[in-house]
Order: sequence, then C-alpha cells, then structure tokens
Amino acid sequence: MTSVSLASVSKVFAPDVKAVNNLSLHINDGEFLVLLGPSGCGKSTTLRMIAGLEDVTEGEIRIGDRIVNDVAPKDRDIAMVFQNYALYPHMSVYKNMAFGLELRYGGNSLHRIWKRLTSPTEAANVAAKRRGIREAVRQTAQALRIEHLLDRMPRQLSGGERQRVALGRAIVRQPAVFLFDEPLSNLDAKLRMETRRELNELHQRLSTTMIYVTHDQTEAMTLGERIVVMKDGEIQQIGSPMEVYDRPKTRFVAGFIGSPPMNFVSGRLAADADELSFVAAGLKIEIDQKQTQLLAAVGNEQTVELGVRAEDVMVEKCETDSGVNFGSVSLVELLGDCKLLHLLVGPDRSGAQNEVTKLVCRVESRADIARGDAVRLRFKAENLHLFDDNSGANLIADRG
Ligand code: ATP
Repeated sequence: MTSVSLASVSKVFAPDVKAVNNLSLHINDGEFLVLLGPSGCGKSTTLRMIAGLEDVTEGEIRIGDRIVNDVAPKDRDIAMVFQNYALYPHMSVYKNMAFGLELRYGGNSLHRIWKRLTSPTEAANVAAKRRGIREAVRQTAQALRIEHLLDRMPRQLSGGERQRVALGRAIVRQPAVFLFDEPLSNLDAKLRMETRRELNELHQRLSTTMIYVTHDQTEAMTLGERIVVMKDGEIQQIGSPMEVYDRPKTRFVAGFIGSPPMNFVSGRLAADADELSFVAAGLKIEIDQKQTQLLAAVGNEQTVELGVRAEDVMVEKCETDSGVNFGSVSLVELLGDCKLLHLLVGPDRSGAQNEVTKLVCRVESRADIARGDAVRLRFKAENLHLFDDNSGANLIADRG
C-alpha cells in the first residue's frame, strides 16, 4: 500500500490558463479519495500529473516516499482507468489484460532471447512470472465476470463489458495506486450503479490506494472515504462525505453536493432584544443566538444567503397560506420513495422575484399534500446554513 502527496502543486498550460493552483493534498495508504468538481475545475489535470501524463509546473508529487515529478509514468507503479476505456482495438480481451504484465516481464521475444544469453538466472525468474500471467488474467476476469469474453475483440463488446476489461487490465497489474478518470460516465444508469458497487467491493477486497475523478456528486458520496471538492483549480473543502454534506464550508460546496440541490434564499439578519432571525420574502426563521459572529453581519445590514436542504424544510397542510412562514404547493415531483414539493412563499406569488421565496421540500411519497395546497413551514434549526453574500463562506461557526 502506498500514500500519495501533493505539495503546493500548480499546473499552468498557458500564461492565462492556470488549471491547478497551489494544491496540497495527502492521500493515505489504502484510501479511496474522490476529486469532485464541475467541468474545467482542474480535477483531471491533477490526476494526470499524479499519473505523469502532464508535467508539474510548480510543486512536488510523492508516491510513497519517492518524489515522482521526473519519473516516467510506466515507472510510477500506477494504473489508470479512463472514461473512454482506451483498450487496444487490435488485441483480444485476453491480450489487452495481459499486455502490461507481458511488457513488465520480458517485453518482446528478441529481448527475452537476449536476456537468456546474457543473464540466465534472471531470465528463468522472468519466465516463471510470465507463466503466471495467464492464471492472473483468468482470476481477474472471473472476478469481473468477463471470463467468457477473453477471446473477443474490443469492438465485439458492449460499453459495460469494455469498461470491465479496462478495469481488469488495471487490476491484473496489481499497482500501488489506482487512478480513475470518470470511468463510469459512458455507462447507462443501471450499469453505472452496478459498476459503482463493484468498485466499492474491489476497494474493500484490495485495500489499494484509489484516486477517483468525477463531476457526479452521487458517485463521490457513494465511493469516497474522503471527498475533495474543487473549483477553479483550487480546493474548496476536503472531508468525509457526511462532512461535506452536513458542514459545507462554502456556498459552492453546499450547492454542489446533494440532490435536489440545497435551497438558497437571499435575505438579511434581524436582531431584536432576545432574538436573531433570518428574514426574506414571507419568511422569518429564528437563528441560534450563540452564533455571535453573525451579529457583525447584522450591524452592517449585510445581505446573507440562507441554505437549507429539502429534507430540513417541514410542512403541514393548513387552511391559510398567508402570513409569515406559510406557502402554497406549486408543483409535485414524485420520486417513488419520496416526493418533492415546490413551494411558493411570500406576499406576491405572481412572480415578482424579490417578493416571492421559492423552496423545495422532501416529504414521504404517501403524504397527503397535493398541488395547490396551503402549507405551514418549519425548519430544522440545527441544519440551517448562512452564507456570506460576497465571499460565499459559511457564517455558522461550527460549519465553516
Ligand atoms: P472535465 O470534467 O471537463 O474533464 P476537469 O475538471 O477535469 O474538467 P481539466 O481537464 O483538468 O478540468 O482542465 C482544467 C482547465 O485546464 C480547463 O480550463 C481546461 O480548458 C484547461 N486545460 C486542460 N488541458 C489543457 C491543455 N492541454 N492545454 C490547455 N489548457 C488545458
């Protein structure tokens, strides 16, 4: 098992394209770490620098205790699985899987003949290892349920089968570190779920260090032991899936993680004698008084953004929908195990943006609430977030 460290790593493609900016990160031995972020945030570039497929402009990358900035990709003891599989089209599945090991143990036949003449003992060792390749490929193919495909060519495989072969080719090499670049993107939803589960099992079985790049927050949440959320070439937050879900440091992280996305409502803080509240169109929500640093924001008349997840908005049907913390259901989306209610809150629901608050809440699918119903709203105070309008930082002290 091997750790991976990045110390102040940057990648500049052109003077005006800084893909990765001063990134420092330590990936533990045997950890499954996910790099998550939107398109263009620099996650693939980071992975490609670890793989040695991109030069590092500044900083240092270590794999184990070796600095690898100048080590060739083939000598880094890593295996990479790409989104587009990158199988050799003219080789059978068996050959695709065996190729890396065959290269490692002896290369082409001329090279092996030369070795037999110049160093017979080493040549005998290598020959024994080469004999083990067939069994290693067979065992891996069996574990991935592609044993019956070993004689086929890549063009004769479905997308899911190709992805398994690409995975198998990486596994059979027993690398110190696996690197995955959006490996499930080309699969349909069902296959993606199955392969995700298999990757999880694979990591449990092998306990090898794995670094996985994706823009899909569900993949990040289900696979990662820790998630690194990136934006514009920089790290926004590093944490366990529940840390980034429950305690997002920034509005960006809060909005990127979770489905449906977190509700954001622009408003201001109001303090009177014994109460601190968040106030927006149709809403007045009490905030924990202990959040003393929030009072500074109140003093400045600063606008802030409330963040609340759909499951933290609670509704009950009522007769009236006028007044503070009342609303009406404008749309219902049934998801099977639950339904999402789209709510309009505020004095003017005809559409004037600053007079209506839009919220989405999650209720049981059998809850007796339908489009057009009036509802009273309550909020789980302990799960509310307040974000600074300018910096996007989470103002709630124990969150940020
Ligand atoms: P995606 O999910 O779309 O692959 P990403 O987060 O992996 O996005 P990168 O591929 O790392 O992003 O790209 C980061 C930035 O660097 C982007 O602005 C991209 O246009 C730029 N970039 C990437 N490769 C090159 C290159 N070879 N030459 C110039 N700019 C590049």
